[in-house]
Amino acid sequence: MAAYEPVLLRGGDDPDFINIDAYMKAGGYETAKKVLAGKSPEECIELVKDSGLRGRGGAGFPTGMKWSFLPKDSDKPTYIVVNADESEPGTFKDRFLLERNPHQMIEGIILCAYACGSNQAYVYFRGEFPLGYATVNRAIKQAEEKGFLGANCFGKGFELKIGTYLGAGAYICGEETGLLESLEGKRGHPRNKPPFPALVGLFNCPTIINNVESLAVLPPLFERGADWFKSLGSEKNWGPKLWCVSGHVAKPGVYETALGITIEELIEEHCGGIHDKSRKLKACIPGGSSCGIVKAEEFGTKLDFDALREVGSSLGTGGVMVWDDTVCIPAALANHSEFYAEESCGQCTPCRQGCAWAASILHRLMHGEGQPGDLQELQRIAKGFTGTTICALADAAAIPIHSYLAKFPEEFEHHLRHGSCDLARPAAAGAGA
Ligand code: SF4
Repeated sequence: MAAYEPVLLRGGDDPDFINIDAYMKAGGYETAKKVLAGKSPEECIELVKDSGLRGRGGAGFPTGMKWSFLPKDSDKPTYIVVNADESEPGTFKDRFLLERNPHQMIEGIILCAYACGSNQAYVYFRGEFPLGYATVNRAIKQAEEKGFLGANCFGKGFELKIGTYLGAGAYICGEETGLLESLEGKRGHPRNKPPFPALVGLFNCPTIINNVESLAVLPPLFERGADWFKSLGSEKNWGPKLWCVSGHVAKPGVYETALGITIEELIEEHCGGIHDKSRKLKACIPGGSSCGIVKAEEFGTKLDFDALREVGSSLGTGGVMVWDDTVCIPAALANHSEFYAEESCGQCTPCRQGCAWAASILHRLMHGEGQPGDLQELQRIAKGFTGTTICALADAAAIPIHSYLAKFPEEFEHHLRHGSCDLARPAAAGAGA
């Protein structure tokens, strides 16, 4: 099989790739220029639908379908919002793109805005991304100076402006409606849905919210076509994908492959295997802390949206945290639960009370003060906040509770009975927020 050719990390380690001349030398902005000259917005939406591209921000919703939900007869402006508030624990792929390949995301925004009939886009950055924020702002200025953005993009009569906004460090502003509230200058409280943002979004106008990687993949998709895109990966799981790998591997970092390689291939062929050859791999979380845990004996599973569901997990963001046998699973869960309790926005009682309650039970379990019935109580609490709240944060907090207890029950029982365990490392690298 031919070696995979990176299209998202195509700038490699070249520090100059953040500049527009280097990006253009590699063919950058040629695709957007051609599309604006020769394709209709409807053809662009059809192309993205045909490709089967699924959003890379976590939910995996088909991008072309999302775009097609925009109202056809609205007299309001349409906005494009880029979710660059990458806060899921274990996830740092978008940061890599923002800091290393900003023009590809900007070219993707141009393609998306043209397809959706929008003349104004906003990029909402995670508060802890000052470097990405500065890099993208500089890149936008360079694109404006070349005439690729502004009142007459590429001289083709299409207007597009891009504004940027740096958040203040709240996880909940990565939830799309919490993000919109924050962008409007309000507290980042998620909204009840429906209505969905495609109909009632930013400033009550139709809005498309896309993740950084979902936009960065558009220039190669438009350049090479849907057939090329579908030649990568497997049925309904097509295209290039970034993986950010942390934890107990020899070479943690950001990697690009086609969707659908196995966890084992990613760890062994790209990340140099386990970091300490005297240890054994124990488990991983394939898509950030909101995903179910995958045991080492399940590492033959493909990294795609559907295969991971069969082992009780999900692709999420592609933030792969790998743990060896020094990791105490109850301690890792206690770490995650504390994070969700801290980041709950407090609007919904099951989330506000439930996350704090779960975190406090796990805290006492980790401190030798577990009580009979605690494990059943944890499951009861997690069941109580699944599907009963405004946004998915509560569901995200429940998933690891159900999953870790189901896959490593003996470790929780051990803590309950003995008050501690022999494992040296409580919450491994990559396990924390
Ligand atoms: Fe806020 Fe939690 Fe309700 Fe989401 S589920 S709106 S984070 S309280």
